[in-house]
Amino acid sequence: MASADPRPDVASLWQATAVPRPPVIRLAGDATCDVVVIGGGYTGLSTAKYLAERGLAPIVVEANRIGWGASGRTGGVVSGKFRVGFRDIAARHGLETARRMHDLGIEAIEHVGRLVEDYGIDAADHRATGSLRCAYNAFTFEALKEEAAWLREALGDDAVSILSAEAVAGETGARDFVGGMLNRHGGVIHPLNFVFGFANGIRAAGIPVYDETPVTRFRREGDGVLVETPHGVITARQVVIATNSYSEITAATAPVRSSIIPFRSAMIATAPLAGTAAAGLLSTGRSYTETRRMMRWFRKSGDRLLYGGRGAFGKDDSAAAFWALETAMVRQFPELEGVAVTHRWSGLVAMTLDSLPHVGRLDDRVVYSVGYNGTGVALSSGIGRHVAAIVAGESPDLGLLTATSLQRIPFYGLREPAVRLVAGWYQFLDAIGR
Ligand SMILES: Cc1cc2nc3c(=O)[nH]c(=O)nc-3n(C[C@H](O)[C@H](O)[C@H](O)COP(=O)(O)OP(=O)(O)OC[C@H]3O[C@@H](n4cnc5c(N)ncnc54)[C@H](O)[C@@H]3O)c2cc1C
Repeated sequence: MASADPRPDVASLWQATAVPRPPVIRLAGDATCDVVVIGGGYTGLSTAKYLAERGLAPIVVEANRIGWGASGRTGGVVSGKFRVGFRDIAARHGLETARRMHDLGIEAIEHVGRLVEDYGIDAADHRATGSLRCAYNAFTFEALKEEAAWLREALGDDAVSILSAEAVAGETGARDFVGGMLNRHGGVIHPLNFVFGFANGIRAAGIPVYDETPVTRFRREGDGVLVETPHGVITARQVVIATNSYSEITAATAPVRSSIIPFRSAMIATAPLAGTAAAGLLSTGRSYTETRRMMRWFRKSGDRLLYGGRGAFGKDDSAAAFWALETAMVRQFPELEGVAVTHRWSGLVAMTLDSLPHVGRLDDRVVYSVGYNGTGVALSSGIGRHVAAIVAGESPDLGLLTATSLQRIPFYGLREPAVRLVAGWYQFLDAIGR
């Protein structure tokens, strides 16, 4: 399963525009600490920060380089939403649960701003621009209007408003949307510079963060755990699994792997648009999504347009999947015809059976936080406060994140054909406008 060698950096726009990475430091020899945090993405770094603030001694171990996983390659959309809408949550679990989930989202967004400020991560280029969800037909526009009204009335969220087709066309440059819902919460960020700044910040506070140090196995020993890596054994009292969609790298994280369906999400970035017919597109700097189930989304970073959507099925990227994205992008924005696509990359998002993240305990020594379902930039970078509380034996109220536990995927071995089937069904529903 695992390759012992660290995997190469991802050739993303973020890598091409990143500040110098934090120095690569590997574990060299045995060590002792209170908690080993497996995974050097936002979840792992955030968990370590808050464990240390509670007076515990954490060590973060990352199999590749800091930020190599989803955290360093995301779209950089800072959002407080979950894949399940707050209205649906209220219908199924009650208004108070929906309110708690909504509060968690807002708290997570605000936390990103505080991290950027506290660690001085100017290179993260964090902007509180909000986001706009664009409706591709009248049916989904009606649903957006109902959702906006419900958010205002039931949750008192007046940061949402409805935009007409003309207003959406005015700020996106795309003329095929019938309207949209503007949400002034959230914004955009340079995700790799954010994770680099975060790692530098916690290292400066004295927390060991080791790159190129995969956990190959951990086992109970006395009243703690022994955590094995190729470079040394760490003796600890507890372990936190923060490997999300990359839980297949070694067998050590098998306890969460069977509850996650990795789904490939792909992105492309254009050459700078100055001087082209496309120079005026997406003038506000917000992020944009659309109402299709097989959603495409777009934003600007600097002077380039980024366009994202479903990637290839299976273990590797495919030229066909990137080509499909480029074709969709030019269909959406004809002004981009002839503008070069300079970067193509992808990563895995962690889908769960109920489409929600889960945070909790596997047993008295192992805690996890996984399953962000493609919307984890804000949530995962703040979740450590709550993960640290669970490690310390507390039971924070995280709404459905803690009220329900991680469910195993039935027939896990068949997950790849199942993903194709679900994607095909979603494409069909999109095509018929439902
Ligand atoms: C292409 C793409 C676009 C996305 N866009 C957005 C977006 O715009 N907005 C948004 O909110 N969310 C987005 N997401 C989701 C978001 O990036 C994730 O939810 C978030 O980064 C999860 O962070 P994490 O720390 O939990 O996981 P990761 O950042 O994936 O970190 C897990 C780390 O664990 C390491 N690891 C695995 N096994 C071991 C082991 N045995 N030992 C040591 N280390 C190990 C991996 O190398 C990896 O670096 C996107 C995801 C992808 C893939």
